[in-house]
Amino acid sequence: MSRLALLLATTVAGCGAAPVAAPPSPPPPPHRAPPPPAVAATPDPAPPAFRLPGDVVPTRYHLELAIRPDDDHASGKVRIDANVVHATRAVWLNARGLKVHSASLGGAPARVLLGGDDHVGLLARTELPTGPLAIDVDFEAPIDHGKSRGIYSEHEGKDAYVYTFFEPIDARRAFPCFDEPSYKVPWQLVLDVPRGDVARANAPIASEHDLPDGMKRVEFAESKPLPSYLVAFVVGPFEVIDDGTAGRAHTPIAFIIPKGRADELAYAKEITPKVVAALEDYFDMDYPYGKLDVAVVPRYWGTMEHPGIVAMGQPLTLIRADQRTRQREQSYANILAHELSHYWFGDYVTMAWWDDTWLNEALGEWSDLNITEAVAPAWHYRDEQVSLAMWAMGPDQTLAAEPIHRAVTNNQGIEASFDNGITYAKGSSILRAAESLVGRDRWREFIRSYVRAHAWGNASKQDFVGELRAKLGNQAADLIETYVSRPGLPLVDVKCTNGTLAIDEPHRALPAGVVDPNDRAWSVPVCMRFGDDKHAERACTTPTEPIHVKACPTWIIPNADGVGYYRSVVDPKTVAALFDPRSGVAKAAKPTATEKMMAIADLRGMIDRGALEIDVALALAPAILADADPSLASWSGVAGGFRYDMLDDRLYRASEAWFTNVYGKTARSLGWHRAKTDTDDRHKLRQSMMWRLGRRDPKLSAEADKLALRWLADRTGIDDDLVGSVLYAAASHGDAALFDKLLAAAKAPRDRAEGGRLLGALGQFTDPKLAHRAAELTLSPDFDARESIRIVYGQLNARETRDATLAFITEHIDALLARMRDDEAAGFLGFLAGSACDPARKAAIVTLVDERSKRYDGAKNYVAQGLEQSDQCIAELAREHPALERFLARYAK
Ligand SMILES: [Zn+2]
Repeated sequence: MSRLALLLATTVAGCGAAPVAAPPSPPPPPHRAPPPPAVAATPDPAPPAFRLPGDVVPTRYHLELAIRPDDDHASGKVRIDANVVHATRAVWLNARGLKVHSASLGGAPARVLLGGDDHVGLLARTELPTGPLAIDVDFEAPIDHGKSRGIYSEHEGKDAYVYTFFEPIDARRAFPCFDEPSYKVPWQLVLDVPRGDVARANAPIASEHDLPDGMKRVEFAESKPLPSYLVAFVVGPFEVIDDGTAGRAHTPIAFIIPKGRADELAYAKEITPKVVAALEDYFDMDYPYGKLDVAVVPRYWGTMEHPGIVAMGQPLTLIRADQRTRQREQSYANILAHELSHYWFGDYVTMAWWDDTWLNEALGEWSDLNITEAVAPAWHYRDEQVSLAMWAMGPDQTLAAEPIHRAVTNNQGIEASFDNGITYAKGSSILRAAESLVGRDRWREFIRSYVRAHAWGNASKQDFVGELRAKLGNQAADLIETYVSRPGLPLVDVKCTNGTLAIDEPHRALPAGVVDPNDRAWSVPVCMRFGDDKHAERACTTPTEPIHVKACPTWIIPNADGVGYYRSVVDPKTVAALFDPRSGVAKAAKPTATEKMMAIADLRGMIDRGALEIDVALALAPAILADADPSLASWSGVAGGFRYDMLDDRLYRASEAWFTNVYGKTARSLGWHRAKTDTDDRHKLRQSMMWRLGRRDPKLSAEADKLALRWLADRTGIDDDLVGSVLYAAASHGDAALFDKLLAAAKAPRDRAEGGRLLGALGQFTDPKLAHRAAELTLSPDFDARESIRIVYGQLNARETRDATLAFITEHIDALLARMRDDEAAGFLGFLAGSACDPARKAAIVTLVDERSKRYDGAKNYVAQGLEQSDQCIAELAREHPALERFLARYAK
């Protein structure tokens, strides 16, 4: 991020060290008394080091902005009704990159004080007494045209559209404000916009009238109480598509979309009212924000829970009739469920400070699975929780992992509190574990009472855990308290001796050779199932309370339902039996899909810890693939994330041959085309197989070449959810002619979803010259870097391209980072840090990312986690080499 100092329209006074601005122009009216001489001798107050001082708090905003979407700036006026809690002369607000023209406090002109990157001060002539205070500021704000932050503008064809994205701390780029989540007050917006444009915001439109110069004024009703980061509006030549009303509050729904795409809304119109109704049912309350606009923003990453005007990315929302696949439907339904869940977890009840970002994001993530399952039960979407847990366990097995609840004392910390693997994925996993422990009905009652208790206000970890303890008891409260307060996860080992099932004192699960010096025993509830060939039992206990049984069971599933957030020691023979329907274990236990998934995850954990050799796990792949439930197919890799691409040539070829041997028959029997009689599940299996084998199997790969050319010619010939696999397979061995065709298509895509897919395919070429041409597209002005960066993500993990791509990134890293927003740069540096799996490469990457990670908010933690995972990868590759030699011997030539 470039550190933009606050720009003042007024001249900065030239004397002394303190950055003092001259009085605002025009000069004060002549009738006002001259300033008392004593004041001039007092040094100006210093800006806050980080947080606002809290001596003045807002009670209401009236914000006026004049916006033309093509302009570089918007001009604004804000009146903040505030309350002085402690008498003071200076009022500090958050502001970044704003030009402040003039300001007044209680109607009297105030002097504007420079406040560094994040603040602006308004200095009264005399001390402001406690009580109400009107703060007025005239200012100018930038309209961003490159990074989608603050007020930002994007083109669709020739038309410019304006959107906003303020979370977490970019509202201060749009207007001066108290930019902290606890300042939750009503806002009234007035937008002056071109007469032909549509303007929408959080609250409904109250009135509209024409202004001179082709403009009009749109006045909005006062909003419900909102923190600054949730204020949102859009301006542009949108189409507004009404979709009737939804749910028990009869909430009016409208889609705000770029011109000419109304026929791509069929699915969104069908499912959106169902999501609203499912949320009202869950919380047993009316939709809280009066109306729901679905504002379709350009990118997936602009998706955001703005109350009353949810932002949903184009690639999610706009689905043409020939693209209506389950994959597209799930993406829209699930992300909408996530954003609208935030209307309760985040908007209606807001975390008091960014140390509790999990109260927004973990609860939102946990809820979106529930709501998605409620609106489309056939998808079994709650089963996705195991994938989320797996995603969390990777970073959580690094010593750099932070706890879910963490102190936030600077902007880095605010950005880092959105730590995806931990805040979202681990957060939702532990909530699911607690829900499972107490039962869904009791948990729902608790959630409802928590939300009611903090309606329109804020909440903290203490509030959530306190309420949980009062309603559901110590066990569930301790579970949440433990998991949010400490990093990592425990390793559970259940053993049976002499009729007693006992858990060894759990310690932190860490990869082989890694020791946490601060580790201490974990006490978390463990729910397990166990039995023999005829019977199955279930019990929940803690490590200190053994379970007495008549005889030791012949099998134990140590993570019942697969919802506990812990690693378990599993018996590979029992795991194998779970996948053999004729085995006594499978017959008695009737394992659920999530138990099977977690069992595979636990085998992976054992490989991580050096407790199981990889060949034992890999041998299970055919049985997992043959499981009656096709959703298990994507788990059949068993050693997920293992870097086969780093093996020497001979072993690498052997691993490819093994791969084709395991999957080839199934893949070929499914083929590229969906039969009319295929169920969604069978087609899902096809997607999984084509992704794996489309480029490896000669027959499928040759078909992919033809299908790619046909699709490029007229966009037909293959189901939309296989287009990616076809293009990737063809590109992986494609020539310059195919490259040029893909590039031409990427420059003129039918829509942004297609554009992203085409850029991804360009990243698959393995021919060195073509791979280099693809990498160069990340610097090309023809493409937005946020879209084109995916090219190098693909290349960095591919055997043929990873070295050349690293050399390219090394040469151009600063130019690449300059094209990204801080959170995007942080993600990129973290990915780069975790991409090495040999010592020389790691050393090269350390020099690239080390210093740079300090420049981007939120990057340090991602980079530290990535570098540790890179060490783990290096160690694993060496450790598993003998087992792989053994396992792949018959494929090695
Ligand atoms: Zn969220």
